[in-house]
Amino acid sequence: MTYSELNSLGALQLKAAGIEEYKLDARLLLQHVCNVDAGFLYAHGDSEVSEPEEKKYRDLIARRQKREPLQHITGIQCFMGLDFKVSPDVLIPRPDTETLVECALKELHDGMRVLDMCTGSGCILLSLLKYSNDCEGVGADVSERALEIASENARNLGVEASFVKSDLFENISGKFDILVSNPPYIRTCEIEELEPEVKDHDPFIALNGHENGLYFYERIAKECPEYLNRGAYVFFEIGSTQGKEVSELMETSGFKDVRVVKDLAGLDRVVICRFA
Ligand code: GLN
Repeated sequence: MTYSELNSLGALQLKAAGIEEYKLDARLLLQHVCNVDAGFLYAHGDSEVSEPEEKKYRDLIARRQKREPLQHITGIQCFMGLDFKVSPDVLIPRPDTETLVECALKELHDGMRVLDMCTGSGCILLSLLKYSNDCEGVGADVSERALEIASENARNLGVEASFVKSDLFENISGKFDILVSNPPYIRTCEIEELEPEVKDHDPFIALNGHENGLYFYERIAKECPEYLNRGAYVFFEIGSTQGKEVSELMETSGFKDVRVVKDLAGLDRVVICRFA
């Protein structure tokens, strides 16, 4: 079978499974299996695929058909132009979260100390450190296995960062100039309504924002002042309906200059404020 034929077959199978981006996913899986880029497939689509590659491709298409996320199959997600290793132990980095990183980069200056609360794969902290100079970064997460992935990502990217196993601020010390966090923020009762790739494959603890979805914002707002320098910035990723609630929470907790920033889809995505 040729590359094009196999690609079309894969796409048809993914389409039948109700996968929206079936063409893209079929092609990316073929590129992954055959270790080629899109240009190669375009130029050599009528070349024959080897039998072992065809078999492997069919196996991976079958996994994707069962709604296993593409990123768990390839083990990689690109974020801020960098490749991050992912596994079922970490939330797959989302393009929306790049909005938070871009906001934080505007306020990040040489020599600052950055804390990433609920770091997961480390994608937020490590991109901030990769695109700045001489900053010191600490990533905290309650999951040991997430921290292993984050440390591996730091090594792969050649970035120095410390990762601490900590239930929120439990094991954090010192003061920071920037606090970034994409905490779990889905209301528990809404998790069941998410796509199978998310509800069945992203870690439940990385999604679950408890009953009102605000549990972690409330705890972080209350506990973070002890760890912030005066004037420090806080950047929260939020769910698109949480702008008002999280802004009000930060205002009543005594933070100033509170504002909401939208993502590229025009949805509320980041709350920014400063520690007075
Ligand atoms: N943005 C994620 C989603 O797609 C949720 C991430 C989170 O809870 N922090 O559902």
